[in-house]
Amino acid sequence: MSLLDLTRSLQSHLTTPPDQLEDISQIYDQLIEVIIRHNQRYYQESDPLIVDYEYDQLFDYLKKIEKTYPDLISPSSPTQRIAWQDVVQDQFKKATHEYPLLSLENSYDADDIRDRHDRSVRLLTKSEITDEPVYIIQPKYDGISVALTYTDGKLTHAITRGDGYTGDDITLNVKTITNLPHTLKTKDHKPKTLIVRGEIMLPKSELARINTEREAAGEPPFANTRNAASGTIKLLDTSIVRSRKLVCYTYDILTEIEEWVTLESLGLPTYQTTHHALHTTHDIDNVITTCLDEELQRELESADVDFDGLVIKIVDQIQRDVLGSTDHHPRRAIAYKYPAQQVTTQITSIDYQVGRTGIITPVANLAPVLLSGVTISRASLHNFDFISQKDIRLHDTVRIQRSGEVIPYIVRVVTEARPADATPIQKPTHCPSCDHHLEYDDIYIYCPNTHGCPAQRKERIIHYVSKQCMDIDGLGDKYVDVLVDNGFIENIADLYTLHEKDRTLRSLPGFADKRVEQIIDQVEQSKSRELWRLINGLGFPSIGKKLAKEIEQAMINAALETSNSQLETFVSYLTNSERLTAIYGVGETIVEWLQHFFDQPENREVLSRLADYGVSFSPQTTNQKPQTSISNIHFSLTGSLGLPRPQIVEILEWYGAIFDDTPKKTTDFMLVGDKPGSKSAKAEELWITIYHSISDFQIYYPDVIFPEIKKEEQSPQQMGLFG
Ligand SMILES: [Zn+2]
Repeated sequence: MSLLDLTRSLQSHLTTPPDQLEDISQIYDQLIEVIIRHNQRYYQESDPLIVDYEYDQLFDYLKKIEKTYPDLISPSSPTQRIAWQDVVQDQFKKATHEYPLLSLENSYDADDIRDRHDRSVRLLTKSEITDEPVYIIQPKYDGISVALTYTDGKLTHAITRGDGYTGDDITLNVKTITNLPHTLKTKDHKPKTLIVRGEIMLPKSELARINTEREAAGEPPFANTRNAASGTIKLLDTSIVRSRKLVCYTYDILTEIEEWVTLESLGLPTYQTTHHALHTTHDIDNVITTCLDEELQRELESADVDFDGLVIKIVDQIQRDVLGSTDHHPRRAIAYKYPAQQVTTQITSIDYQVGRTGIITPVANLAPVLLSGVTISRASLHNFDFISQKDIRLHDTVRIQRSGEVIPYIVRVVTEARPADATPIQKPTHCPSCDHHLEYDDIYIYCPNTHGCPAQRKERIIHYVSKQCMDIDGLGDKYVDVLVDNGFIENIADLYTLHEKDRTLRSLPGFADKRVEQIIDQVEQSKSRELWRLINGLGFPSIGKKLAKEIEQAMINAALETSNSQLETFVSYLTNSERLTAIYGVGETIVEWLQHFFDQPENREVLSRLADYGVSFSPQTTNQKPQTSISNIHFSLTGSLGLPRPQIVEILEWYGAIFDDTPKKTTDFMLVGDKPGSKSAKAEELWITIYHSISDFQIYYPDVIFPEIKKEEQSPQQMGLFG
């Protein structure tokens, strides 16, 4: 029997209550088979044989049978495979967006908004547009972004944002959303094709209802409305989607349209807010005031759908076109994210971390909780002053917040929810790493076993190899752990002996040939890094990157005698209190610390070994770079940019920028030319600012000068250089 015949025959039973069916088990098996085959037609072959409504009826009937005869339930039943967590996304048909759905760049503070405004003005001025941009401010939905296509006035496609270029076809599920019309209202001037952007959300009241049900059924509750909406819209069972009352608000028309046509005039739902602050303005101060308006934030927070900030858009179409976009972010609009999203969770245990200077930091392990899309399971308790001020106890319920990239912070204890087993946090008496007796100094507790404590050793090495110091790439925390735990290194000088143990290194877990080569090469290169990197890397208390640079500059200015060895000159300078205190930012305490450091024979030994291995202790007068707008800014590049890649790197490095071969979290910007490699996608993923050409970059950094690019001089070989 064909699928359609089988379906029709089953449909003839659907009006009969299951307990009155004669051959219940045969019908049950057939229903399973039919539904699975219809799923295949729809999801894999994109060729549905029956309409949505008919499918739902079959599915509902299957559930009815299972409710009446629970013993009958087969593990192959589609009802058994549909839980919100194990929905296989691949089962949704992939669809390409006609207009890429770009995500907005996020802004977290007033300075950043002003900065972006200034950049836009510069960019517009360059195109001889002197009118200041006019902005419209709208609430920013925290839901699932979707592109809706209406063909001849009928809703034909709903595609998730996906990567901005392709998403999942969720048309059937979107059609269950009751506030979204299937047909456009307008009769005249009906656009042939209309594509609008909207956001699918689950109202907070619905989330509460669903979570109560889920908890009663022993299922984990959804962490927030966004997760619930995302978990729901990807369900294969349309009837469950319908039962959860999703809403969709539209906010942008992507297709070209008559000027007077608005979302409202087409009958499409938009979110209405009454607040006076949402308006159009040309004054950037006004924009900022609106962003910082707490009353507005409170109003949006009290709405039944979730907002996580505001969208600031430039109104004028010509200005929008001139500003254009990078691959994934339009420049015509930005999102202002409200700070300080807070959630409540519980402290499950306390760890004590040993820092490189021996200071013990209490850290709270938390019951994992989602906060602005990130699972938080730890938060620093800083010190015992912080703990006593906030009266934080073990097992307490706490409010935590996180803003932008900032690490989670405990705002307060929810004392009214304090459990009976909440116990005060005891000050530790012994080092968790070396078990040495701990000492107390003001609010700090520290392990005085400076040279013997494994945790301090590791932390000192991790600090030394970090980007801010010697920048030894490839030696992340985990690798340092393994090297120290296996006795390969105890201190920073041992790093320079690693090449002798090349062969045995390769037997360590995670130390693949390439990794070992990279580490050895990077260690070698670190010998001639700038002196401030070494000064910072030695980890003197209170001397950070900035002060280390001041010290290097002071040494250059002092034009030190060179009759002594580099190391002797270095030590004599850093123990000369008169010279040191002349440096801005160096006080008596730092001088004492430095003297104490150089008094310790263990430190002297490490330093003389470093010198023996060829590490430079000399300030680098020759490479003094001007302070520029890109000093110490990390960059990466890919694709063809019209100049040979090594030349671009050399120029940017001359201006003080730091080259990352592959884009990392710490990379600040990336130049992406024609035919970019996979690094471009990586940069997008990491939210790195992208410039599509050298001139694009120069709009933001006009002080960085490049040689003029003469197109005809580019040889194919040059083009091929770009990785
Ligand atoms: Zn210790």
